[in-house]
Amino acid sequence: TTSSFVETVKETVFGEGPKLVRAVDDLDMTLEQNQVQGVIGESGCGKTTLLRTVMGLYDPTGGDIRFQGQSTSEFGKADWKEFRRKVQIVFQDPFNSLDPKFSVRRTIAEPLEIHDIDYDRSDIEEMLEKVGLTPASQYIQQFPNQLSGGEKQRVAIARALVTDPEVILADEPSSMLDVSTQAEILNLLNGLTSEFGVSMIYISHDLSTVSYICDEINVMYLGRIVEKAETRELLSDPKHPYTKALIQSIPIPDPHHDRERATIGGEPGDPIDMPEGCRFKTRCPERMDVCDHTPRDVDPDGEGERSVACHLYYDHEATTGDAEEPVE
Ligand code: SF4
Repeated sequence: TTSSFVETVKETVFGEGPKLVRAVDDLDMTLEQNQVQGVIGESGCGKTTLLRTVMGLYDPTGGDIRFQGQSTSEFGKADWKEFRRKVQIVFQDPFNSLDPKFSVRRTIAEPLEIHDIDYDRSDIEEMLEKVGLTPASQYIQQFPNQLSGGEKQRVAIARALVTDPEVILADEPSSMLDVSTQAEILNLLNGLTSEFGVSMIYISHDLSTVSYICDEINVMYLGRIVEKAETRELLSDPKHPYTKALIQSIPIPDPHHDRERATIGGEPGDPIDMPEGCRFKTRCPERMDVCDHTPRDVDPDGEGERSVACHLYYDHEATTGDAEEPVE
């Protein structure tokens, strides 16, 4: 059976009148079993709203979120409870996501109790060993203030995995840790998703971490997916000007490398007053006349092999001539 986790958020709107913010718009995403999908974008692009909407914390103002074939809008109380067991989240900030009054044992036992799953101390210890907190007997009675940031994030991952979920939603789980701890947490998540057979949506502003852990990447700009592709393809052959700019801005560790780290020029558009036409036009080095008034959806008719929300990719006539022909 394919555990696909389909979501189509048409738009998620906050506030009223002049403060109307379209945080996520026209978004179509499908997560397959054992797949790790990344969502990359700058802060404010809507990726956290996306995760919260998937979790059912925000209601989409249009569209639908489907889990294993069923729309969450049709969920009753029991469906939501089962959904909350099967879909777990790991937050960005391990310093605030653990209750300081809860021991490690109680932190990990809590979701088991909520979901009426039988357990004993050895189950908790086994989970701690799996996330690399060894010897488990040393950690099980500790409290968050006795743990490092990396150890706290390992506890949060153990808490997410202990209910045997099918999907993990990871909200920049390594971004607040130092670089070497970040690598450990990424390696841990990588290994555990394979071992537990869970799918994951991993959101981040950092393309290098997303590339490391994800099979497929969705590039998000001002509430919209502007390009999605298999990771290797996206990195080696980016199509959207925003994706190209993100790749150029990845820092290069070699001090002798002569390429300057590029930054993305211009100001991001205002989500309260969304620009007409292409939302990236205020920063795009390849902007054309057509971009000013006409937005381009991500491959609405399946015209191309790739999903790119940019006129350059589809409309050869409109380009200066050095862009590629649309792929048939
Ligand atoms: Fe740039 Fe136009 Fe493509 Fe938007 S549609 S990214 S402005 S070339």
